[in-house]
Amino acid sequence: MRTFEYHAPTSLNEAISLLQEHGEAARPLAGGTDLVVQMKEKATKFAAPSHIVSLLRVPELSGVSFSESEGLRIGAGATMSQVADSPIIRERYRAIAEGAALVGSIQTMNMATVGGNLCNAAPSADIAPPLLAFEAEAVIVGPSGRRKLALEEFFLGPGKTALAADELLAEVRVPLPPPGMGSAYDRHTPRKQMDIAVVGVAAALTMAGERIERARVALGAVAPTPVRAPQAEAALEGQAPSDELFARAADVSAAECSPIADLRGSAEFRRHIVRVMTKRMLREALDRARSG
Ligand SMILES: Cc1cc2nc3c(=O)[nH]c(=O)nc-3n(C[C@H](O)[C@H](O)[C@H](O)COP(=O)(O)OP(=O)(O)OC[C@H]3O[C@@H](n4cnc5c(N)ncnc54)[C@H](O)[C@@H]3O)c2cc1C
Repeated sequence: MRTFEYHAPTSLNEAISLLQEHGEAARPLAGGTDLVVQMKEKATKFAAPSHIVSLLRVPELSGVSFSESEGLRIGAGATMSQVADSPIIRERYRAIAEGAALVGSIQTMNMATVGGNLCNAAPSADIAPPLLAFEAEAVIVGPSGRRKLALEEFFLGPGKTALAADELLAEVRVPLPPPGMGSAYDRHTPRKQMDIAVVGVAAALTMAGERIERARVALGAVAPTPVRAPQAEAALEGQAPSDELFARAADVSAAECSPIADLRGSAEFRRHIVRVMTKRMLREALDRARSG
């Protein structure tokens, strides 16, 4: 690992000033479960930063809060354990709690942050599909103030986000789920634990009586970024739920994603898993919507 200077700002303004001062030579550090591993890799494709700006003591980035008028706020510095254990997230935003609970081991979850998972921008990031299914927004802070961006527009490619070098992801805002909504997230991995998603699928269904009023399907690890599956969503909306409908929507979502082939699975294998898991997540989301 190359030597670097370590900065420990105690406010968001101070952190932004440091990033502005050191430009491309600086990188923010949250839990370090991605960044430190990347910095240790010898033949790294990631620039070795000469300034590390730790976010651990920046209070504005921490915590999870909820209000009936504003919905959910997840600070970028909230850990996966905090999200997975949050009673309000478990109750009202179930798929998000499920995504957080899958990130590595308990030790990893205690260090890994939501901001780090999103800013690392791996297509397989487990917190991304559930947040996309809930139509989350990224709140970004930089030298010229705050801006909001739909999470879908935050990811630009593997390892690439819409953040400038002197900007930070401050928090994620998740709208209030409508009454009658149920959600679910799961992923396929060859190993039961400590593995990354070969495919991840989040589904959120809002029922109006016996019809699906709103459907959201989001996929991980089957495109250069985590993505929504808009054609599958359109196939579901306005319809009465059934196994046949879910099978059709699963076929559509498998057709509209663009998986790569790598040592963890061929593109065709990934499409097959998308089909299987989309059906499974839709059934689960429906059960939860019906049971309130
Ligand atoms: C053993 C192990 C198992 C893992 N298992 C999983 C898994 O199952 N699923 C999964 O999705 N991931 C997994 N990961 C990857 C990693 O744990 C997650 O991506 C984690 O959420 C990253 O968060 P972090 O706080 O550690 O980020 P860091 O490593 O600190 O940062 C990651 C990147 O984000 C940037 N960054 C961090 N916070 C901000 C911010 N607020 N604003 C701007 N940029 C920021 C950093 O500069 C860096 O580029 C695993 C990692 C390990 C080591």
